[in-house]
Amino acid sequence: MKLVDKPVKAKKGDTASPKAVEEDASNKVSQGRAELIKKFPVRANLENYEQEYATFNWDDAKKEISYFAGGKMNAAYNAVDRHLHDGRRNKVALYSVDVNNKIEKLTFQDIAEQSNKMGNALKKLGAHRGDRVFVFLPRVPELYTTTVAIAKIGAIAGPLFSAFGPDALRDRLIDSEAKIIITNPALKPKLDAIRGQLPDLEYVIVVGGDKEKMGEREFTYEELVSGESDKLECARMDPEDPLYLLYTSGTTGKPKGVVHVHHDIIGHHMTSKWVLDLRDDDTYWCTADPGWVTGTVYGIFGPWSLGASVVSYEGRFDADSWYSLIDRLKVTVWYTAPTALRMLMKAGDDVVYKHSLDSVRHILSVGEPLNPEVVRWGQKVYGLPIHDNWWQTETGMQLIANLPCNAIKPGSMGKPLPGVYAAVVDEDGEEVEPGKLGKLVVRPGWPAMLREVWRNEEKFNEYFKISGWYFSGDNAWKDEDGYFWFVGRADDVINTAGHRVGPFEVESALIEHPSVTEAGVIGKPDKERGEIIKAFIVLGNGVVQTDELLEDIKEFTKRQLAAHAYPREIEVKESLPKTRSGKIMRRLLKAWELGLPTGDTSSLEDD
Ligand code: ATP
Ligand code: MG
Repeated sequence: MKLVDKPVKAKKGDTASPKAVEEDASNKVSQGRAELIKKFPVRANLENYEQEYATFNWDDAKKEISYFAGGKMNAAYNAVDRHLHDGRRNKVALYSVDVNNKIEKLTFQDIAEQSNKMGNALKKLGAHRGDRVFVFLPRVPELYTTTVAIAKIGAIAGPLFSAFGPDALRDRLIDSEAKIIITNPALKPKLDAIRGQLPDLEYVIVVGGDKEKMGEREFTYEELVSGESDKLECARMDPEDPLYLLYTSGTTGKPKGVVHVHHDIIGHHMTSKWVLDLRDDDTYWCTADPGWVTGTVYGIFGPWSLGASVVSYEGRFDADSWYSLIDRLKVTVWYTAPTALRMLMKAGDDVVYKHSLDSVRHILSVGEPLNPEVVRWGQKVYGLPIHDNWWQTETGMQLIANLPCNAIKPGSMGKPLPGVYAAVVDEDGEEVEPGKLGKLVVRPGWPAMLREVWRNEEKFNEYFKISGWYFSGDNAWKDEDGYFWFVGRADDVINTAGHRVGPFEVESALIEHPSVTEAGVIGKPDKERGEIIKAFIVLGNGVVQTDELLEDIKEFTKRQLAAHAYPREIEVKESLPKTRSGKIMRRLLKAWELGLPTGDTSSLEDD
């Protein structure tokens, strides 16, 4: 079957260029910002997209990376040790802010020495190249130094999100045959609960652990590293040797163990330069936890490869705390996610105006579709456009992005990066015309592409089964200007009375209604129409649910979209089911609606 429907709503020319920022200077914050931008225009690292896209190739980018003799390399050397010789030795690499807002500063030299000590300790324990060493820690300095240490000795780093429960932990540790895990006393009970089911796990290392309470094959981090040398030669790795193993978010099914290699660092480096637009004087905050690919790639390797100062915040989300942190550390580049931005929007404009935020010069978002409403709101209150970009655990780096040098069309993910050929194709792998819905695919060849699904060749091959494309599993369309527009996961597209409708556009229209703060949309089987659109919504604080209100929301959506694309059923919920990384799990809404089994829920957030 060909995918031929035109998208319901395509707003051409709907841009949020810096000019649009000025025109929208309807409040004091954006006015101040617009004046600043005029006064101190910042040149982007990538200034001419068309030219770079036409001429760039990945071999040229290798000169930005350090290699050892014989073409060997180590991503951790690039991220940390090389800064000991390029003038950044005493520069702050990490501002680690704990739950009590206490700030610890670590220079590149501190990170290098601490990771060397830990690397030496791990080697003594018998960690070899290729062994899986997992890190199950909150965002404390040891999370960063240990991850770097694992990479330095050539073992495979396995980041785990600290909010994982025992089931999520067990699935990942069993699947990967993890040999060593590093955790802390608060998280260890979750590991203890499943320890008997992990025959491959040899050692547990506890950061801040009590020596008296350590069991068999358990050590405190402190006793292991004390007395270790702070000198260590990074292992000379083949560029194709594994660097890290990370499980996907589990939004559409059981998480897949994706293997990435040292060579990825080229992609981390170039995209941090182009998309994050990082420079030496930046203080950069990536709000994602390293338990997710964004936190590993753009919270550790990418920004450090460029020698940027990274902020890590252990605390939870809270609008006031987040803005205070930005002001306190004078964050200049801020990388976050739609779910956080929607929560900030819900927290309101007043809390924004209580803070200055004038250090921020670049805002980015990833992980889910970024609703146009959020882009417009961001522009109003922050006086800056929010730059959406698209990638996946499997792609290992950003592939499609709203670059600082290109105008933004709110709701679009932007354009493919130089060196990346992305397309929209039909089921046979044939490219479709602009404006037509299809499958989002990429030509293999970018440096950070997944190399393996851990011990699952069949799953790996599924990504590449048609015409040599990498199939992302997402549906999208491309406009005449080459911008890509996300429609939904391939499985989420709704077929109603012969029309194909993406959940994202319906959700975006719903949240434009002043009473709606969040929306998740599914197709519900219907005798007459094949499927009807059903929306689950969360109402704003203090909004009372009435039949009139729901009718009004339906009418509002119908006006925004088209008669066939409005939700015939709306159900109000207290909250929507989300992964721990904050993505709406539509498959759960659907399973609940239809009374079907819920499948793998190990990624579901439970608080
Ligand atoms: P799983 O593969 O286990 O179902 P997941 O796909 O959510 O989980 P990730 O690799 O963390 O796991 O997320 C990648 C997906 O997130 C993309 O395939 C896409 O659906 C979504 N995504 C990421 N960035 C964007 C974006 N800018 N716009 C729309 N969707 C995005
Ligand atoms: Mg996925």
